[in-house]
Amino acid sequence: MLLGAHVSIAGSLAKAPVRAYEIGGETFQIFTKNQMQWCIPTLTEKTAEKFKSNVKSFNLYFGTVHASYLVNVASSNPMTRMRSINNLVVDLERTELLNMPYLVFHPGAHKDAGERKGIKLIAEAIDQIFDITSAKKTMLLLETTAGSGTNIGYKLEQLSEIIARSKFSERIGVCVDTCHIFAAGYDIRTESGIVNFMDLADKSFGLDKIKAFHLNDSLGKLGSRIDRHAEIGKGNIGTRAFEVLVNLKEFKNTPGILETPGGPERYKVNLKLLKTFRR
Ligand SMILES: [Zn+2]
Ligand SMILES: [Zn+2]
Repeated sequence: MLLGAHVSIAGSLAKAPVRAYEIGGETFQIFTKNQMQWCIPTLTEKTAEKFKSNVKSFNLYFGTVHASYLVNVASSNPMTRMRSINNLVVDLERTELLNMPYLVFHPGAHKDAGERKGIKLIAEAIDQIFDITSAKKTMLLLETTAGSGTNIGYKLEQLSEIIARSKFSERIGVCVDTCHIFAAGYDIRTESGIVNFMDLADKSFGLDKIKAFHLNDSLGKLGSRIDRHAEIGKGNIGTRAFEVLVNLKEFKNTPGILETPGGPERYKVNLKLLKTFRR
């Protein structure tokens, strides 16, 4: 696994790779804009060039972009839905301009519409996004969720159904967040637990659909549906899962991104720890 963390774009997008390098990352994740606002500032060709040249000069691998937290394509509200689709269209194009291969997003919350309806709406939205966007190769990754509230994506079958329903299934992948799957009820604390999970993933959508990992320990207990990230080894998952994950040969070149609390200094410590797990 290629290891990294979610880094800030404060000041300029081009600063993100520098920050990734400073904490010992081999790859990284960013937001391309403020994750809590709908507005999208322009991304100039010049900034994108600087960003890409920094990735290369610091010997990093291009990683993941995380979509806005406001996006909800499972929503039946026409306004929310339209804004969410537009936001993902633009973000997909920005992701591609930055040469990042993956845009990760949360499948969405159905509110009162029910899971069946929500899954259908998500697949339809993905089709609209790929119909509209000028991005040619960037993939959308569905992130596994903890299943809090009415969030969809806490069962692997839900993700596989979304992928199967879309006419662009080859451009959809999965980002596995360890905290979320654990809170959703997948016990990954042991090596056999990880093997089990991978087996289920392979049966539902195929292991090759997993294009990224979010490496977070969990403050919530197994099956609690509580989405609260912890530093590696400081939550209810424990270190064993991460020792196994970083060494899986199927994911040798797959980004594994920390989204743990504590900022850059703690990222540095957690990345160092993850590297000691390598055999
Ligand atoms: Zn996320
Ligand atoms: Zn995550």
